[in-house]
Amino acid sequence: MKHILYGFLLGFRHRKRLREVIGSAVENRSQVTTLTVSEMEERDIHCLILDFDGVLAAHGEGELEPEVVPWLQGMVKRFQAGKVFILSNKPSEERKHYFAEAFPEVQFIKAPRKKPYTDGIDICLAQAEVKPEQAIIADDRLLTGVMAGLSAGIRVAYITRPYRKPAKRLWSETFFSFLRVTEKWYVRLLP
Ligand SMILES: [Mg+2]
Repeated sequence: MKHILYGFLLGFRHRKRLREVIGSAVENRSQVTTLTVSEMEERDIHCLILDFDGVLAAHGEGELEPEVVPWLQGMVKRFQAGKVFILSNKPSEERKHYFAEAFPEVQFIKAPRKKPYTDGIDICLAQAEVKPEQAIIADDRLLTGVMAGLSAGIRVAYITRPYRKPAKRLWSETFFSFLRVTEKWYVRLLP
C-alpha cells in the first residue's frame, strides 16, 4: 500500500511530465505489441523492462496472453541476452517458473521496494550495463511503473489498453480498473 501512496505523491510532483506522457503518441501506447523491433533500433534502445499484469497478460495470470508470445520472442531475438527483464510488483513463483521454462533469456527481477521506487529499474540497468536513456519500461500503471521509469530517467511506454479478464477475476479487475482511471484523472485534474 505504501508504494501506491508514494505514487500519488510523486504523481503530484511530476504531474506536468505525466500529462505529457498521457498526451504523447510515442509514450502512450495501447498495447505492448505496438512496440516494434525496428522502433527499438531507431530509438537506440538496448534494454527492455516489462511489467507483467495488464501488459503481458491479464491480472493474476501465470502465463502470457497468446498474442504476446510471438511478440516477446521477436524482442528477445533482437535484444542481446540478458537485456530483457520482467519487473512486476507481484513476482510469483508460478511466473518465475514459466519464464525459466518458456523464456530462459528473460530475467525475472525481484526488487527490494516496489514501483514507483526505482530499485528494480536500477538493478536492470546495472545488469544490462546500459545508460538510462537506452532502456524502456512498458507498464499499464501511470503512478507505479511509468512513474518509476520517469524517476529513473529511462524511456516509458504507458500501456493504456491492458489485458483484462473481468469474468475470471471480477473484484481485482474492478479494483485495478478503478486505480487506472483514478490515477489518470488525478494527474489530469491537478492544478
Ligand atoms: Mg501492470
